[in-house]
Amino acid sequence: MKVIIPDHPLLGHKLTQLRDGATDGPTFRRLARELITLLAYEATRALRTEQAEIQTPVSATTGVKLCMPAPFVVPVLRAGLGLLEGFLQILPEADVGFLGIARDEHSLMPSIYSERLPRSLEGRQVFVLDPMLATGGTLTVTTHLMFERKAQDVTCVCLLASPEGVAAMKRAFEGGEHSVRIVTASIDRGLNQKGYIVPGLGDAGDRLYGNI
Ligand code: URA
Repeated sequence: MKVIIPDHPLLGHKLTQLRDGATDGPTFRRLARELITLLAYEATRALRTEQAEIQTPVSATTGVKLCMPAPFVVPVLRAGLGLLEGFLQILPEADVGFLGIARDEHSLMPSIYSERLPRSLEGRQVFVLDPMLATGGTLTVTTHLMFERKAQDVTCVCLLASPEGVAAMKRAFEGGEHSVRIVTASIDRGLNQKGYIVPGLGDAGDRLYGNI
């Protein structure tokens, strides 16, 4: 399993604004969108391409195009929805499925409450969007489900990760038969007793969509 933390001054700058508790909802949404677009650039580096013959206005030439079937993007509801538009900005060719996972406030255990995915993801490169890799429960369940549906590889794109979450993903997937990557702007200090990432940015869903 590979963990990638892209090194770019704009990532650090935008992430600092995003973390700030004084940042209002509209600004938070805009920053989340901009950050995920920057992360998407790195997350899509291993996309498969094939040769394509085209005719420019001047000459015939050989370029590349994305292989089919199209890449598949899965935002984990609800906070992952805040990352979808920014991700599709760089990969508009992708198909999109939806997965609703809630974690029990006390046990922190994840459970699927809604699913809109194809039966088969055979041969597809899958990108899972979840702003916070905290305990790792949600992303472990989601990634297993993608491989059950025969995804070729899975890249989890998160704004922030905790060392505990990364360790949980490694326990589940390191050395396994499947290729798993995590792309994140930062691995923070750790989790607090409520399972929040510290220093983190608080509850990503609430900051994106309000405390309902
Ligand atoms: N989910 C969040 O929204 N924030 C955290 O810090 C951890 C999980």
